[in-house]
Amino acid sequence: MKNYKLDTLCVQAGYKPKTGESRIPAISQSTTFFYGDTQAMADCFDLKSAGYFYSRLSNPTVAAFEGKVAALEGGVAAIGCSSGMSATTLSVFTVAGAGDNILSSAEVYGGTYNLFGTTLPKLGIECRFFNPDSSAEEIEKLIDGKTKMVFIETVANPAISVVDFDKIAKICKKHGVLLAVDNTLATPALCRPKEFGANVIIHSSSKYLDGHAAALGGVIVDCGNFDFKASERYASFNQPDESYHGLVYSDLPVAVFATKCRAQMIRDIGAIMSPQNAFLSYIGSDTLALRMEKHSANAAKVAEYLSKHPKIEWVRHPSLKGDKYHELAKKYLPDGQGGMLSFGIKGDSQKCALFMESLRLITQETHVADVRSCVLHPASTTHRQLSKEDLAAAGVPENLIRLSVGIENAEDIIADIAQALEKV
Ligand code: PLP
Repeated sequence: MKNYKLDTLCVQAGYKPKTGESRIPAISQSTTFFYGDTQAMADCFDLKSAGYFYSRLSNPTVAAFEGKVAALEGGVAAIGCSSGMSATTLSVFTVAGAGDNILSSAEVYGGTYNLFGTTLPKLGIECRFFNPDSSAEEIEKLIDGKTKMVFIETVANPAISVVDFDKIAKICKKHGVLLAVDNTLATPALCRPKEFGANVIIHSSSKYLDGHAAALGGVIVDCGNFDFKASERYASFNQPDESYHGLVYSDLPVAVFATKCRAQMIRDIGAIMSPQNAFLSYIGSDTLALRMEKHSANAAKVAEYLSKHPKIEWVRHPSLKGDKYHELAKKYLPDGQGGMLSFGIKGDSQKCALFMESLRLITQETHVADVRSCVLHPASTTHRQLSKEDLAAAGVPENLIRLSVGIENAEDIIADIAQALEKV
């Protein structure tokens, strides 16, 4: 599968039936699996042979989706999780414990910001936020001997900023720190972070990968390109894991990060993807390449329209020539900049509400990145727990409206926006 192009991988990777088996992955709706002899099951427990024994650890339907996403991202292994949030949480727990710290871009999804800023510190893991536009010198000042991960989003939700991979990857390489990238909004159809230095890739597959708002899920992709063996920073990878028969993860020939994540974190915390959701996500992602093309083209047209509208204060979409991230998008997202855009209506929160309530085709939803266009006012919903200062640091002004442009006809989307703006 390695040499196939992305649109081929979307429909072919992750599952290959044997004679007489179902053409698409069957839903393996079973908690457990039958073994005729004790040694065969023991070998699975010892990771000596591959096999399913309990669906909290692995499941054939989930494995099909994991295999597809790993192939799309060019990774060596993937883990299907119950949500994007659990994927992020389990990735951090795989490398960091009490007393450690991680660095994160301040421009990350609100739920991630909350996890990093509020919940992780309660467990003794500090998060040091940085402005992704800061200089490399300013960012690397935050790294010390206890730093275990740098976390960024390819396209930030809802700031719609594009990260400068070269700058961040260089810092991570210099200090031997793992680079984790949330690639939810770009998807591998538009950007493959491994090519720009990512070591771990995270997805909320609830978004474009599924694409139909049908299945909550998350994925962790191990890019297989981090040398844990050479690093003193990651002692837990180089010492025997007494909870797993003394296994030294860095001795494994492949998928060191994914194996530790599954053997320790998935085992102890659960939060695995369900077979039903894996099935829906697998089928949904068949059309990822096609959908991302249309999402991107539609969003570029809508952004162009909004940028000329007298009631609009500002618009952010990296396709716009004047956009702050246009140059970075040309480098990292040359084939399309995705369906997410944000804009500010001239006026306050009330004007934002009036606009959104006047929409007829586009709906208000706490969701983004599926086939249907939808809007959200982050300051009063996903980001409502943030102070005015935190909102500013997260790149979310009060009048920001987030628009997830679907794959309807662009003229219909624009006509709906036009009639709603007339009422404002
Ligand atoms: N990452 C990004 C960029 C997101 O937009 C979201 C959710 O909107 C998440 C992670 C969290 O994913 P989930 O809702 O599947 O837990």
